[in-house]
Amino acid sequence: MDDETRLRMAIIDKARWMNSSGLNQGTSGNISVRHGDRMLITPSGIAYDTLTPDMIASMPVDGEYGAWDGPKKPSVEWRFHLDILKARPDVMATVHTHSMYATILAIARKPIPPCHYMIAAFGGSDVRVCDYAKYGTKELSINVLKAMEGRSACLMANHGILATGSSLDKAMWAAVELETIAKQYYHSLLIGGPVLLSEEEIDRVVREFHGYGLKT
Ligand code: 13P
Ligand code: ZN
Repeated sequence: MDDETRLRMAIIDKARWMNSSGLNQGTSGNISVRHGDRMLITPSGIAYDTLTPDMIASMPVDGEYGAWDGPKKPSVEWRFHLDILKARPDVMATVHTHSMYATILAIARKPIPPCHYMIAAFGGSDVRVCDYAKYGTKELSINVLKAMEGRSACLMANHGILATGSSLDKAMWAAVELETIAKQYYHSLLIGGPVLLSEEEIDRVVREFHGYGLKT
C-alpha cells in the first residue's frame, strides 16, 4: 500500500473515531491532511461509516484555488483548511468539529481564558472565538485565520471549533484537549467562575510545552 492510501485510510479512521467517541456527530466536521504539495480532505456530507479511501478529495495547495480531484466534492470548508496550509507551513493536519462544550462557548461567543494550564497547548493564554461568517465562505476562512494568529486552534462563532497539528494524531489530540478544557471552563462558570492563571505563568508553560503532549 502506498503512503497516500495509508493517509486516506488514517483520515477515515479518525473521522469515524471522532463520532464514535462522542466528540462529533453526524456529518458535521471535516478533516484535512497535507500530503506533499496537495491537501487530502474528507468529502462533503458523506456519512463517515460509508467512506472509502478513494472518496477522500485531493486539492492542490498552491495550484488553482479550489481545484479538486475525486468522485465526491470536498468538504464545504475546504477554504479554511487550504488557507491554513498555505499560511502555516508547520501545520500538517486540521480537524474541524462541532464538539458539544466548545460549541456552546462558541455560541455564547466566550473565548477560553487561562483557566487551566492546558490552555498553553494552543500557543498562548487564550483560545479565541473567530467572528461569525456563514459556513463554507471565504469570509469564514479569513476570520478563522485571524483568530488563529499565534494559536493552533480557535472556536468558531455559532458553529464549532478547529484544531491543527504537526500530524493528524496531534491535530485530533488537540481537538480532544480543546473540548476537555471547554467542558471544564463551562462547568467552572456554573460554580462561581474560574480563578485564572497569570500571563507570566502561561508564558512559562508555553515555553515548557515544546516537547509536551502527545508523542507519536
Ligand atoms: P461538510 O460535510 O461539507 O464537511 O460540512 C460539515 C461542516 O461541519 C460544515 O461546517
Ligand atoms: Zn462545521
